[in-house]
Amino acid sequence: QPSVAFDNVMFGYDKDRTILNGLSFEVPAGRNYAVVGPSGAGKSTLARLLFRFYDPQSGRILIDGQDIKEVTQASVRAAIGIVPQDSVLFNDTIGYNIGYGREDATQAEIEMAARGAALMGLIDRLPKRFDTEVGERGLKLSGGEKQRVAIARTLVKNPPILVLDEATSALDTRTEQDILTTLHRVAEHRTSISIAHRLSTISDADRILVLNEGRLEESGTHGELLRYG
Ligand code: ADP
Ligand code: ADP
Repeated sequence: QPSVAFDNVMFGYDKDRTILNGLSFEVPAGRNYAVVGPSGAGKSTLARLLFRFYDPQSGRILIDGQDIKEVTQASVRAAIGIVPQDSVLFNDTIGYNIGYGREDATQAEIEMAARGAALMGLIDRLPKRFDTEVGERGLKLSGGEKQRVAIARTLVKNPPILVLDEATSALDTRTEQDILTTLHRVAEHRTSISIAHRLSTISDADRILVLNEGRLEESGTHGELLRYG
């Protein structure tokens, strides 16, 4: 697995306001790190930069020691799976959303879809439809199922890096716990960054980075951060 590093990254969406102010941190290969911090600290912004939706104004972002500006955007995106808080799904079956049933799917893609579905416990539910409205047959997906589908879809390409941007924060506590347990298993053999708003959801992270005003304010283990409040 690759490491991920931000090296003195400066970024603003417009000129008169910087959002990331010299952000530096490193997630060693295969480790699971979490990012917390007040709303507006720049947590989602760092995920967008890593995925190259935007590029930094200065500083470098490194995957496996290589500046992501020096490789193709496609290869950066192939290495990273992002799961947002709220994913947009196709109005179709769970299977279709994960990648089954597309006419142009290759055998390898079908096998990867099966692995994604299996990891997220969806094998029995592939024919179930996702619909925005509850239909006559009442076949609306629950929020938890929807997020399982979104995560499974991300896992289809087997990304060595996983970025979870408050991936479970829209769910009720029990569903959240359920999905966190699965995510721990999924993150185990990857390098992961979990953006979270509550410390309780990231108690298993190897290390927690605290972001404030676009900088790394402090970092530590869950226990250390709880101690210093
Ligand atoms: P966090 O995820 O820590 O809550 P964000 O990275 O979403 O913070 O946002 C950091 C700051 O950047 C916020 O003040 C937000 O208003 C601003 N911001 C986010 N997205 C955009 C955008 N697309 N255009 C302009 N400003 C943005
Ligand atoms: P271990 O250290 O025992 O191997 P992990 O480090 O694999 O356990 O922990 C699992 C991962 O689950 C966390 O690092 C994190 O990536 C993910 N996770 C934790 N909290 C959240 C959250 N709020 N949202 C999304 N994913 C989370």
